[in-house]
Amino acid sequence: MDVRVGDLLEMKKPHPCGNREFAVLRVGMDFRLRCTKCGHEIMAPRVKIEKNIKKILRKDEENHA
Ligand SMILES: [Zn+2]
Repeated sequence: MDVRVGDLLEMKKPHPCGNREFAVLRVGMDFRLRCTKCGHEIMAPRVKIEKNIKKILRKDEENHA
């Protein structure tokens, strides 16, 4: 799955605050995400996060090589 820094991820399971959208802050072996509603940051292994992604919301397509 092609996840990039700056993407918004719509997750299958919502954050405890009720929000499903997370901003991608860092990618790699572990992803760092920030809840766009409450601002809480989480860090989890890539495989775990990818399983929970429902949809990638990408507004900015200008950075493609
Ligand atoms: Zn939250």
